[in-house]
Amino acid sequence: MEGLKEEIVRKLHDLGKFGNDPDGGVSRLLYSKSWVEAQNAVKAWLEKEGFEARFDEVGNLFGTLIGTKSDETILTGSHIDTVKNGGLYDGQYGIVAGIIAINYLKEKYGQPLRNLEVVSMAEEEGSRFPYTFWGSKNIVGIAKQKDVETIADFNGISFEEAMKETGFHFKDESKGMRKDVKSFVEIHVEQGSILEAEKKSVGIVQSIVGQRRFSVQLTGDSNHAGTTPMGHRRDTVYAASQMISEIITMAKEVGDPLVTTVGNIEVKPNMVNVVPGKTNFTIDVRHIDKNEIVQYTNKVKNTIATRAKEHDVEAEIDMWLDIDPVPMDAKIVKVIETVCNVNDLNYKMMHSGAGHDAQIFAPVVPTAMLFVPSHKGISHNPAEHTEPEDLAEGVKALIGTLYELAYKE
Ligand SMILES: [Zn+2]
Repeated sequence: MEGLKEEIVRKLHDLGKFGNDPDGGVSRLLYSKSWVEAQNAVKAWLEKEGFEARFDEVGNLFGTLIGTKSDETILTGSHIDTVKNGGLYDGQYGIVAGIIAINYLKEKYGQPLRNLEVVSMAEEEGSRFPYTFWGSKNIVGIAKQKDVETIADFNGISFEEAMKETGFHFKDESKGMRKDVKSFVEIHVEQGSILEAEKKSVGIVQSIVGQRRFSVQLTGDSNHAGTTPMGHRRDTVYAASQMISEIITMAKEVGDPLVTTVGNIEVKPNMVNVVPGKTNFTIDVRHIDKNEIVQYTNKVKNTIATRAKEHDVEAEIDMWLDIDPVPMDAKIVKVIETVCNVNDLNYKMMHSGAGHDAQIFAPVVPTAMLFVPSHKGISHNPAEHTEPEDLAEGVKALIGTLYELAYKE
């Protein structure tokens, strides 16, 4: 595969010109000018390579290489949108990799049995509007018009207005998902540091983590820092500090792959000379096993209740996100593992600690996911980087996988 590395890097930079920020990085928010330009550039590229290219109602872009069994489609791809001032790899690598992989297969093996299709999805990040996975949710038919009707961006432009301005419109919700899609394979940067640390080029994702998020509000008494004896205080920072310490210690005791993060700590009145009467913080918990999440978060709730009582403060806990872990399709995972072994690719079986479009597809259609390393685990940042050798190894794994899925009976 002569020149594969160079081709991938060149295409990533070409596409990264749409929405490039003056000081480096890429900002390509849903239905923005740079988003439209990028999607049109991908469409022109697809057409030049002989794909049948088309947009759906909401702006997902598809390019198809028709197979002899044209009622069955193997889909690959990722999202075109970025976070504000993101990097060159998150999302767009999956699109570039998909197009290059399908092109390679076409040149080498000719027409596939099943359609090979690449998708450049409209939106995944939730960077412009408070809504995520708009692209994949529309593809699988679970996006709801009512969920975006009342939302607007930071400039007050409504979702619907932004969408219509670019010529797209809501999809008919009764339509559901296309019946021809038989599998979805997404390739993406890891956005973590595991592959790099273990010197692996490819990650085969077995599961995408489940997640719970909580907001905790502690209420005590704000009082004079000089005249309130220690024994008379209802100090929420003291209570919070013990809770947080225990929450993190308990997570370490459970061990990998459980991760928990306390953040967004707000103290009121946050003054040097006032006992803090209110403290709020958030908790993010992730694991690949739902039972582990439930058990651990029950312990967290108990700890918060016990410590609140001990410090005579009121604690309110609100769980506002509860997403189940999503296993990838075991059969396709096995296919990828075999492909990596046969092609001598340096791989690791792993899970994804971040959410991806693949988790929206997985409940509806057999789905798998591949990772390539992220240098220092950096992502959502202009400094995002993956070594060209690893980008190429990822595309090789994708080529082998798509061959097995689209060319074999
Ligand atoms: Zn992404």
